[in-house]
Amino acid sequence: MSDCIFCKIAEGEIPSHTVYEDDDFKAILDISPANPGHTVIIPKRHVENIFELENTDLCEKIFPVVAKLSNNLKESFNPDGLNVLQNNGTAAGQTVFHFHIHLIPRYNNDSVQIKWTPKELTQEELKSVFDSYVK
Ligand code: AMP
Ligand code: ZN
Repeated sequence: MSDCIFCKIAEGEIPSHTVYEDDDFKAILDISPANPGHTVIIPKRHVENIFELENTDLCEKIFPVVAKLSNNLKESFNPDGLNVLQNNGTAAGQTVFHFHIHLIPRYNNDSVQIKWTPKELTQEELKSVFDSYVK
């Protein structure tokens, strides 16, 4: 994808602070981090979102990278916690339409907000959701 910023980063056309690289993935420091150390893992191949990732070889390869870099962040910065976040579609907050996973180091009482107001569903509503769910 010629106009995709993460493709350009993957190809080295745009500079990045690369903290991990293998044949399939690059992990870079987020340019506008939620906290210092905020990392994004991007496949080198252009895949728009998780729906396109399914049934690719990247699917089974990515979680070992997530786990490795999570531990690298823990060792480097000793955060109190860490969020693994992955957005698909504008409605979900995706702004770069090249699949990526965020690793966000978290600290007690930091100002980062990844929150929702829980919805209260009746048992009937819950059952209806369950029945509609493709299994
Ligand atoms: P998302 O909202 O899930 O699509 O996240 C996109 C992320 O990419 C944001 O956190 C941006 O700060 C980050 N980002 C955008 N451009 C760059 C760049 N050139 N280098 C590093 N991170 C970037
Ligand atoms: Zn791309």
